[in-house]
Amino acid sequence: MSFIGQNTLRTKQLNRTLVFQTLLRLEAPTRQEIASFTKLTPATITNIISELIEEGFVVELGNGVSEQKRAGRKTVVLGLNENSSKIAGVHIRSDRVEIGIVTLRGTVLKSTSFPIPPKIKQDDFLQLLKTKLQSFLQQNKTIPISCIGVGSVGLVDYENGRILEAEHLGWENVDLVAELSTTFQLPVFLDHHVRGMTLAEKMFGSCKNQSDFLSVYIGQGIGAGLFLKDQLYRSEMTGAGELGHMTFQPEGVDCWCGNKGCLERYASEGAIKNELKVDSTLKVIEACQNGEKEAIQTLRTAGKRIAIVLASFLNMFHVQKIVIGGELAHQDLPLLNEIREVANSRSFLAKKRKVEVVTTVLGEQQGIIGAASVALLDGVFTATK
Ligand SMILES: [Zn+2]
Repeated sequence: MSFIGQNTLRTKQLNRTLVFQTLLRLEAPTRQEIASFTKLTPATITNIISELIEEGFVVELGNGVSEQKRAGRKTVVLGLNENSSKIAGVHIRSDRVEIGIVTLRGTVLKSTSFPIPPKIKQDDFLQLLKTKLQSFLQQNKTIPISCIGVGSVGLVDYENGRILEAEHLGWENVDLVAELSTTFQLPVFLDHHVRGMTLAEKMFGSCKNQSDFLSVYIGQGIGAGLFLKDQLYRSEMTGAGELGHMTFQPEGVDCWCGNKGCLERYASEGAIKNELKVDSTLKVIEACQNGEKEAIQTLRTAGKRIAIVLASFLNMFHVQKIVIGGELAHQDLPLLNEIREVANSRSFLAKKRKVEVVTTVLGEQQGIIGAASVALLDGVFTATK
């Protein structure tokens, strides 16, 4: 294929993605409204919508009320066909794998999870993952799947579909996309799990109308995804968004990344559990809910530490909103409020114009929805001709 051909295909893919996002954002739009919202020409919209209808992703819902109708012109409103494509979302955390079946609107229809045995070798893990996914899809075989999206911890090579390194699990160079696509005979797409969650925030969460935002996930480590000018930022190198490895204490404790004093050694779920000497995140949450002062103070301190690093980030990128995910980011726990207050009070730019800091609306299944989002954009809506 020539360079010009690839360019044309890429433009078409971007346009299809734009139309999909518009269908998620606007309630039952007409073709004219999509053209006006996306600033694409009416002819381009007509072509893309015809293809999407033919492929079964979009349906005509009947006549709507719009400016055109008032002007006496017949209009047809459009919607996503929730009965069409379904995606299997696979979220690989450092302690367990979550699997679900997700619709075009980001609804999780079915889900399951299984723990990752400690110190499991990567070949054994791949076998376990295939067996569990096979059994889950078999149990739900009445729901056909068109592709698989995977969001994983570690350093992820998005272009080549590999997990380069997952230090918490002791893996390197896991050829995940090749393994799963051979076994399941379906298109498979892989990205870092927090970048997937960031896509999900833009498509289904509270950032549909934000062009610039940061999504932060506080788990065993701390990761982030950045949207700038309506595009997910992906570095040309191995990735981006390693918020947990930004320095919090210049002479602090050693981190596995080779640096010292990294934020995630002081404020991740793992660090908080260590500080409170408990073995589960649920115990931290319960202690806070029971009003135990030590737990509340530990979460506040962790929130302050995260916010100090975020304030520096905000001075570089004054985004409109920060969305926080992870079990400890629930709005009833002290972590979120501390991050909101301290990040806004310490950032020079945020003091001029406050940054909204909220918890994710995607809930506990944000990892599964995020994993499916990687496949939604790259798989379902990829132009092939
Ligand atoms: Zn580090």
